[in-house]
Amino acid sequence: TISIFWFRRDLRLEDNAALYHALRGKNPILPIFIFDQNILDKLAKDDARITFIYQTIEDLKKTLHKNGSDLLVKYGKPETVWPEVLKEYDVAEVYTNHDYEPYARERDDNMAEFLRSENIEFKTFKDQVIFEKGEILKADQTPYTVFTPYYKQWHAKLNDFSTKAYPTKKHFKNLLDIKHLPLPSLKEMGFEVSRLQFPKIEYKSKLDDYAKERDFPAVEGTTRIGLHLRFGTISIRKLAKDAIAANSNVWLSELAWREFYMMILWHFPYSASDSFKKQYDKIKWRNDEKEFKAWCEGNTGYPIVDAGMRQLNEIGWMHNRVRMVTASFLSKHLLIDWRWGEAYFANKLLDYEMASNVGGWQWAAGSGNDAAPYFRVFNPELQTKRFDPKFEYIKKWVPEFGTKKYAQPIVEHKFARERVLKVFKEALS
Ligand code: FAD
Repeated sequence: TISIFWFRRDLRLEDNAALYHALRGKNPILPIFIFDQNILDKLAKDDARITFIYQTIEDLKKTLHKNGSDLLVKYGKPETVWPEVLKEYDVAEVYTNHDYEPYARERDDNMAEFLRSENIEFKTFKDQVIFEKGEILKADQTPYTVFTPYYKQWHAKLNDFSTKAYPTKKHFKNLLDIKHLPLPSLKEMGFEVSRLQFPKIEYKSKLDDYAKERDFPAVEGTTRIGLHLRFGTISIRKLAKDAIAANSNVWLSELAWREFYMMILWHFPYSASDSFKKQYDKIKWRNDEKEFKAWCEGNTGYPIVDAGMRQLNEIGWMHNRVRMVTASFLSKHLLIDWRWGEAYFANKLLDYEMASNVGGWQWAAGSGNDAAPYFRVFNPELQTKRFDPKFEYIKKWVPEFGTKKYAQPIVEHKFARERVLKVFKEALS
C-alpha cells in the first residue's frame, strides 16, 4: 500500500505543505504530476509555460532519482488518468495542495468524490498563500472587497509561524523506492520547445530599492518572480520571510495583493468572466477588431502602450506600470471589452495568474475592486513623462520611435477621453 502526493502548481520538493504531510504519514509516497489535457488542449503549441513546466518536471525527477524514488508523470485528463493509476498501484491516500481557480475547484471536488467512492482519503492543504480564502475576513465574517483594510489584518496576523518552512527534506526516506519511470516527451504531447528565457530565482538583490525603483519600466527594479510563484517553484513562505528580513514592506504588500485577488476569486468566482461591479456589464464596448489587432501588435502610435505590448510579445512579461497603462488604453481609449485584453495577456504572460490578471484588468477598466473611479482615465503622455522621462524603455522596445516610420496615434487622446466618459456614464447612471 502506498500514498500519493499530487503536484499541480507547487512544483518544488522543499517547503511544500502537502508533500510534508504526506511524507509524515504511514505509507511510502509516490509523487505524481499530470499534464492535464483539459488545460493543455486550449493552449498554443508553442506556449512557453509548458516548456517551463517540463524542464521543472525533469529537475524534480533528477532530485527524486538521487533519493531512490521517482515522479510518475501522466498525460491526459485527470478524470481518466486517476482510475488508471488506481489500477496500477494500491493507494490508501492522496495528498495535494489547495488550488483556488474555478476549474481547479471543480476538478478537486470531482476528485474528492471519486476517491471517496474508492475508499481513498483525499487530504488537501494550504500552500500557495500565507492566508487563504476564509482566514482574513471582516468582523461580520464576510470577505473584504477593498485592499487596504484587508492588508491591515493580513499584516497584523502575520507571525513566525505563518512563514515557517515545512522541512520536507528530512523525510525523503519515506519516498517510495521505485525504478525509473518513463517521461512522455513534449512532442508526444503536441508542444514545441520554447526558446524564451525564463527568469531565474534572484529576487533578493531587488528588495532594498524596490520601493524606489519599481515604477520605472526602464529600470530592472522588480523581481520577475511571478512565474515561479505561478508554478510554485519557490515557496511563498520563503518570499514573505525574506521580505520581512529585508524590511521591504512595499514588496511584502505586493505579495499580499496576490493573495487578495486569489481570495476575491474564491469568494466571487463570477468575476473571472463578469464585471465585479455588475453594472459595468452594461457598457457598450466598441470592440473594433482592427484596433484590437493594432493594440496587440504594439502599433497604436502611443509609444508607451506600444513598448509594453512589444515587450509582452517578445519576452512574455510586461512591467506592472505598463500593464496598467496598456490595460487602461484598451478598455478606455479604445473602448474594447476588458475581457479581450485579459484573454490576450492570459495567453502571453509567463506569470499569468487568473486572479491577478482579472483583478488587474478590472481595476484598469474601473469595474473591479478598489478600482480607480471611471472618470479617471490614464493619460499615456503624462505616464511617460513621469515614469519614462528619457524614453529609455520606449526606445528599447520601439526602435522606430521618433522616426517617420512610427505609427500615427490610433485615436486622439482628448476625443477618446470624452468618448469613454460619455459611454461609461450612460451605462452606469
Ligand atoms: P514584483 O513587483 O517583483 O512583485 C512580486 C510579486 O508580487 C509578483 O510576482 C506577484 O506575484 C505579486 N504582485 C505584484 N504586484 C501585484 C499586483 N498588482 N497584483 C497581484 N499580485 C502582484 N500579476 C500576476 O502575477 N499575473 C498576472 O497575470 C497579472 N496580470 C496583470 C494584469 C494587469 C492589467 C495588471 C495591471 C497587473 C497584473 N499583474 C499580474 C500584477 C503585476 O503587474 C505583476 O504581478 C508584476 O508585474 C509581476 O512582475 P514581478 O514578478 O517582477 O513583480
